[in-house]
Amino acid sequence: MKILLPTSTAGSLPKPSWLAEPEKIWSPWKLEDQELKDGKLDALRLSLQEQVQAGIHIVSDGEQTRQHFVTTFIEHLSGVDFEKRETVKIRNRYEASVPTVVGQVSRPKPVFVEDAKFLRQQTKQPIKWALPGPMTMIDTLYDHHYKSREKLAWEFAKILNQEARELEAAGVDIIQFDEPAFNVFFDEVNDWGVATLERAIEGLKCETAVHICYGYGIKANTDWKKTLGSEWRQYEATFPKLQQSNIDIVSLECHNSQVPMDLIELIRGKKVMVGAIDVATHTIETPEEVADTLRKALQFVDADKLYPCTNCGMAPLPREVAQGKLNALTAGAQIVRDELLA
Ligand SMILES: [Zn+2]
Repeated sequence: MKILLPTSTAGSLPKPSWLAEPEKIWSPWKLEDQELKDGKLDALRLSLQEQVQAGIHIVSDGEQTRQHFVTTFIEHLSGVDFEKRETVKIRNRYEASVPTVVGQVSRPKPVFVEDAKFLRQQTKQPIKWALPGPMTMIDTLYDHHYKSREKLAWEFAKILNQEARELEAAGVDIIQFDEPAFNVFFDEVNDWGVATLERAIEGLKCETAVHICYGYGIKANTDWKKTLGSEWRQYEATFPKLQQSNIDIVSLECHNSQVPMDLIELIRGKKVMVGAIDVATHTIETPEEVADTLRKALQFVDADKLYPCTNCGMAPLPREVAQGKLNALTAGAQIVRDELLA
């Protein structure tokens, strides 16, 4: 991007209340069949318009066509039985009933490619598309077939690469992999997590990003955050490996968090999507608060590599709150842009 400090969001945005119950993650659809198909695309259009109106530079689908950032992708794969459910602990944090891997996993047909083509037709602005990362995918399943987290992650990496290549061909400018699991399983990240991510981006010419956060503002996550102490140093365990990787952009949670900003120094050279909007509170940041977070980040990342962003997705927030936060992001980025250009 030519513009200094291009803004974007981590991914999901609230859905209209006629499409899915608001202020909920995994919210069930309110429509069926063709009405649901049409409704999802209408919502995608609305979400895009809200981003454009707020002045966001790198736009997305707002994840309007998916129910959940991991499960919706997995639902389209074969080898996973959604009827056969087991209770597992996700990210060592909360128990959930998840589907079972019962055989060889594969992608019989593209998952999001048609949606991405639709978004591409609607705008000339750069577009970013989010996919789950391999480690976060395996952490949301019970594996009865491979019986190895690493083996299953490599299989998913291959599948993600097929999808990513088709998203690139559809005109996506940045493909982002969501890996909140990178903030939990440090040894695995270093042993094979970053390697499987690199397998997922193999051969891509578009830009690639990894999003590593402390999760949506749901209770399981906010309770977990309370146990992390006064300094959250999780990124310290994985950044050196990521700095050495082929990933272009790292998307981080920074605002209102206890992450020491100087950890960004460990990924020097990468573009950094700096989370300057807290998604765990309904309080809308002032532009000055956003600017303050960006200024702190600028001590550790070159201005031409700083991408103001949100901490995580905003799907569970009321729509007007999310819109207010997008406006604040734009206004805060403008304050710092003016300072840099002065
Ligand atoms: Zn996130």
